[in-house]
Amino acid sequence: MNNAKPNRCPVYKKCGGCQLDTSYPEQLRFKQGKTERLLKRFCRVEPIIGMETPFHYRNKVQAAFYTNRSGKIISGVYQSGTHHVTGIDSCMIEDETADSIIVGVRKLLPSFKLTTYNEDTHKGFLRHVLVRRGFQTNEIMLVLVTGTPVFPSKNNFVRAIREKFPAITTIVQNVNNLNTNLVLGEKQTVLYGKGYIEDILCGCRFRISPKSFYQINPVQTEVLYGKAMEFAHLKGNETVLDTYSGIGTIGIVAAKQGAGRVIGVELNGDAVRDAISNAKLNKLQNIRFYKGDAGDFMETCADENERCDVVFMDPPRAGSSEQFLRALIKMSPKRVVYISCNPETMARDLDFLTKHSHYRVQKIQPVDMFPHTAHIECVALLCGE
Ligand code: SAH
Repeated sequence: MNNAKPNRCPVYKKCGGCQLDTSYPEQLRFKQGKTERLLKRFCRVEPIIGMETPFHYRNKVQAAFYTNRSGKIISGVYQSGTHHVTGIDSCMIEDETADSIIVGVRKLLPSFKLTTYNEDTHKGFLRHVLVRRGFQTNEIMLVLVTGTPVFPSKNNFVRAIREKFPAITTIVQNVNNLNTNLVLGEKQTVLYGKGYIEDILCGCRFRISPKSFYQINPVQTEVLYGKAMEFAHLKGNETVLDTYSGIGTIGIVAAKQGAGRVIGVELNGDAVRDAISNAKLNKLQNIRFYKGDAGDFMETCADENERCDVVFMDPPRAGSSEQFLRALIKMSPKRVVYISCNPETMARDLDFLTKHSHYRVQKIQPVDMFPHTAHIECVALLCGE
């Protein structure tokens, strides 16, 4: 374990991306304490699994672009509550190649007379840049988020970027002209390459599109999924549900470990498309992915008396819904593996499940997916008594 206290980041206060600037062991103690306060009433909380090297783990990096009063282009993060961008060229938790690509894009803009987008006047061009890197494959995606679909000197700009960064495997233009906090807009065009990258997790290969969710810390994701599989205790031939499945990572890893049949459900259409091609990429025939709300899907399954042995659930920060949890109880799988990025909503959902059913929490394992931030990831196992 790396005990070194990180050098204090110069933009720690302005950026807001990290919330903890104590030593790493202290951060882990803080997260363990918070998890126990919220969850130990259900079951003993295992010691949190930290990172060996808790730096530069973020495989997805995004920067806002802005031109200041003296005409200088800045790339970085919005100062909280404002539209001012704090310039950041390198960051302790972000992938270093991704950071250098963002700086490279910024330096190229003036020679192509490309401007930055102004959120107040809705004029200008480049709004955000997003870079994603496959840690195992080294494939790199560059997404240029622009305020207008018109891209002056497009081909020459793309050529210049590729010359400067030959490691980039795909470049996408995404258009976002809405007044929104979301980085990506609806419309996008592939400017170079396949329009997605692939990465390898737990020995499986995954295609990742710009708008699909993919865990941002691949090293710890393998640890997390490893625990989820251990809790699921698949012996072969089980019917498994992967709910809130994203690009299908958990379901596909479960299918590779011998699950008899896997059914996934996910709301984001791009992620479902990725999940379907990921099943093919991994040569799996016993797996289906559906697009829809996980609660509606579970309710339909329960009403039709579908049976299943194991349910994986990995909801967003807001947690699951009562509709989902009621249907889950009705379906009554042997094991429920609940993966959560927010122990507060996890506590609320576990409360509901344990009060309204025979399920009891058997294990809780926190995993540090987000060093230097206050975020906590946990996986819990529930079994019927
Ligand atoms: N299990 C995946 C994704 C987890 S993130 C992984 O480990 O990578 C949570 C996912 O839930 C996101 O992909 C999000 O698009 C999806 N989601 C959010 N609300 C949903 C809902 N109501 N029904 C189904 N999926 C939902």
